[in-house]
Amino acid sequence: LKIKNIDFGSREIIIIAGPCSVESREQLLETTKDFVGSGVKILRGGTFKSRTSPNSFMGLKEKGLKLLKEAGEKLNMVTITEVMSQEQLEIALNYVDIIQVGSRSMHNYPLLTALGKLKVPVLLKRGFGSNIEEWINASRYIQNEGNPNIILCERGIRTFEHATRFTLDLSSIPIIKNRTGLPIIVDPSHAAGDSELIIPLAKAAVAVGADGLMIEVHFDPDSALSDGKQSLTPKQLKKLIDECKKVALAVDRVIDPQDKT
Ligand code: PEP
Ligand code: MN
Repeated sequence: LKIKNIDFGSREIIIIAGPCSVESREQLLETTKDFVGSGVKILRGGTFKSRTSPNSFMGLKEKGLKLLKEAGEKLNMVTITEVMSQEQLEIALNYVDIIQVGSRSMHNYPLLTALGKLKVPVLLKRGFGSNIEEWINASRYIQNEGNPNIILCERGIRTFEHATRFTLDLSSIPIIKNRTGLPIIVDPSHAAGDSELIIPLAKAAVAVGADGLMIEVHFDPDSALSDGKQSLTPKQLKKLIDECKKVALAVDRVIDPQDKT
C-alpha cells in the first residue's frame, strides 16, 4: 500500500508519531520539531476524540484539523486523524491523508461502508473487545465496497490483567499476516497506557513482524490534555527509534532507509 512516498508492507517499518490530541499550534511545533530526519514518517494527531468519559477533552475538531494540516505541510509529512462518524469523515477528508477508525468504532459498519466507497487509506484499529476474526470481518466491510487501501492496527485487548491498560496481543501480527494480505502496525501506547512500557513493547512488535508503529508523543506529557501517562517525550521517541532500528536489522527490516548509520 503506497501513500505518497510511504510504502506500507514493504521492508521498511513505518513510524507514525504525534500527540494523542492536537491541542495548539505551539504544542504541535514543540512536539514535532525534531521529527524531520528522525525516522518518523507520518504525523498523527487526534482532532475528534473518542474518550471513555464524556467529561474528558473532546478535541479541537476542525480547528485541530487545520493545525494538523499546517504542521504536516511544514514537516512535509503524511497526516492521520481519527473520525467516529460519516459527518466527521466529510470534514477530515479536506485535511488529512489517512483516516483512522478507532478501537471504539471498529463495529461502526455505516462508517466502514462509507470508507469503503472512497479510495482514502484507512487505518483500522482492533476493537479492544474484538477477536481477530471480527477485526478481519470489519476490514472486509471496507474492502467489499471497493477500497483496498487498509492498514490494520493492533492496539491491545481487554483481559483480566490490570497492570497494563490493555493487553498487547502480539500474536495477532503473524496471524493477520497469514490470513490477510494487509499491512499491520502496532500501537503500544494505548495498549500499555504507561510510557515506561512503550519502548520494550515497540521492540517486541518489530521483532514479531509489525509493518509499522504508532507512538503517542508530547513535548510535556504531564500537561497533555489526553493520554499524557502513556506519551513519550521527543527524547524518549528518539531512544525508541534507535533501539527499534537494531531489532529491525535483526529481522531483516529497516526503519529509515535514508539512514546510513
Ligand atoms: C487514539 O489513537 O488516540 C485512540 C483513541 O486509540 P484507540 O482507538 O486505540 O483507543
Ligand atoms: Mn490517545
